[in-house]
Amino acid sequence: MVRWARRHRVSLVPRGAGTSLDGESVPVRGGFVVDLSAMDQVLELNEKDLWARVQPGVVNARLQELLRPRGLFYPPNPGSWEISTLGGNASTNASGFRSFRYGPTRSWVLRARAVLGTGELVEAGTLAWKRSAGVDLLGSLIGSEGTLGILTELTVRLSPLPARRVGLLASVPEGTSLGALALGLLWARGEGLSAVEWVDARVATEVARMEGLPLEPHAGALLLEVETPREVTEDTAARWGRGLAALGLKTEVRLFEDAEALWRARGRAGVLMDRRLGPRVREDVAVPLTAWDRLLDRVGALARKEGVDLVMYAHLGEGNLHPNFVCDPVSPQAHRLRMGLWEIAWSLGGTASAEHGLGSLKAPAYRREHGAIAFRALRELKRALDPEGILNPGKFWG
Ligand SMILES: Cc1cc2nc3c(=O)[nH]c(=O)nc-3n(C[C@H](O)[C@H](O)[C@H](O)COP(=O)(O)OP(=O)(O)OC[C@H]3O[C@@H](n4cnc5c(N)ncnc54)[C@H](O)[C@@H]3O)c2cc1C
Repeated sequence: MVRWARRHRVSLVPRGAGTSLDGESVPVRGGFVVDLSAMDQVLELNEKDLWARVQPGVVNARLQELLRPRGLFYPPNPGSWEISTLGGNASTNASGFRSFRYGPTRSWVLRARAVLGTGELVEAGTLAWKRSAGVDLLGSLIGSEGTLGILTELTVRLSPLPARRVGLLASVPEGTSLGALALGLLWARGEGLSAVEWVDARVATEVARMEGLPLEPHAGALLLEVETPREVTEDTAARWGRGLAALGLKTEVRLFEDAEALWRARGRAGVLMDRRLGPRVREDVAVPLTAWDRLLDRVGALARKEGVDLVMYAHLGEGNLHPNFVCDPVSPQAHRLRMGLWEIAWSLGGTASAEHGLGSLKAPAYRREHGAIAFRALRELKRALDPEGILNPGKFWG
């Protein structure tokens, strides 16, 4: 198909589940959409070397279902894990709240088969868990959003399921330095901390209402997950409460013996907020944690300057903020907000996209973020792998 498309100069836009948020799988310049969702077979499960060989259309949740009874899991868990595909996850280098502990999809793909824009089939990577064999193609394919090749098979690493995952929920009163809190929590990784999430007061109110929890009014919330072999006792919450107090957060800590209950509440609150807020600019910047408080101040000032409502949540442990500006996402105002936000992130040493990718909406950020020289070199790679530019045109390559 790719050879035919190349010959006839027809564009091909790979698509998994179509859940990407910045127009990644939208055929903005026409052509054919290559729907990979029916390539959904788990081809091989190696329980000794801990990897799975899958077709790209396998939905993340389906792989997890298969792995759970075997005491295994696949760590990358984007919020869309119940519907998005492993091919889409790899092509956007997706990650979720556990990437705080486990890293993004890129850390979990061992090997990929892909059809390049030349029509050639390549196999990139190996089955070894470690590799230092020079600059590699695998790393470039991951996160390339279908612009370098169409992934037709992935071999992904697996991890043993931890004995238990405990959830912790605490109010975060206004005025708390979230940056200092997050920097302090980095040191709790050794205690099994696997997620450090934050939601603002609006989302926290919804979570509290759904769980019937007495969270403090007008306060945000901190949501933690801890993977631990220890028995959960009454002291668990008290111990974490003392730890948080030492970091400046003196509030009651609520324990969830099974962290999934906490994430379900967070997910339901998110869906409800989505419905209430309607269309909006959903962004995805990240900065070093030492710049976190400045990021929040400046994003708040940007929203005030533009006179738009702002709701925020974050993968705080990784400095990844999702500001939601409530306005028409395809208006000139949305464009100003995006550009303003990216400038803030770059000026603080950060990135315009921490996990969602660039697609067409964030396309202008690519050249600026990488700089002219790197962009020129990367563009040569694109030319070599897709000489006619038939793969997913109109995205971040310009
Ligand atoms: C409710 C919700 C929550 C989300 N939460 C997160 C989150 O926590 N973290 C996060 O990172 N993202 C999140 N996302 C964004 C999105 O789900 C991810 O980017 C996901 O990885 C996309 O997977 P998909 O199967 O839907 O891919 P698609 O949207 O279909 O495609 C994404 C990109 O990958 C390319 N592509 C797809 N399959 C292939 C293939 N086989 N070969 C080559 N290219 C391919 C497409 O061309 C496109 O550029 C969320 C989205 C929603 C709607």
